[in-house]
Amino acid sequence: MPQDPDCTFCRIARGDIPCHKVHQTEHGLAFLDIGPLAEGHLLWIPRTHIASLDDLTESQASDLCRSLPRLGQALRAALSAEGYNVLQNNGRVAGQEVMHLHFHLIPRTRGDGLGYRWRPGRYEPGRAEALVHAFRTALGE
Ligand code: 5GP
Ligand code: ZN
Repeated sequence: MPQDPDCTFCRIARGDIPCHKVHQTEHGLAFLDIGPLAEGHLLWIPRTHIASLDDLTESQASDLCRSLPRLGQALRAALSAEGYNVLQNNGRVAGQEVMHLHFHLIPRTRGDGLGYRWRPGRYEPGRAEALVHAFRTALGE
């Protein structure tokens, strides 16, 4: 299983760095984030060193993502959470600090003060069509 000796999450997956482990499968590990945005904030990582979502094979994606519903259910049940956010940062510009793929599961309660700067824009005429074309070309469609 490819690992990076300098990667914090590889070291956690190997057991070299302790963590509060919540769940593990052959493919992934869930543990408490050391700096929780809310009590019970979880990280779900692949055991193997994969930097970003787009580096996953379809099979790895399937192995990893199939556990998300169960983790979400456990989070609701264990914390009586009203809801949760799944956050997954790819690249430094997107806020990724640990370059080992991870999903944040962040419990939410009314009035918790967590939120985004969500400032919706608007497309100029023709821009949406150009973007769809660029996507389809990239997808080979
Ligand atoms: P990112 O900004 O890369 O999406 O999030 C990285 C997350 O990993 C942060 O929320 C941070 O608190 C958490 N983290 C970093 N190092 C450790 C560690 O050694 N142990 C645990 N449990 N969490 C960590
Ligand atoms: Zn790693």
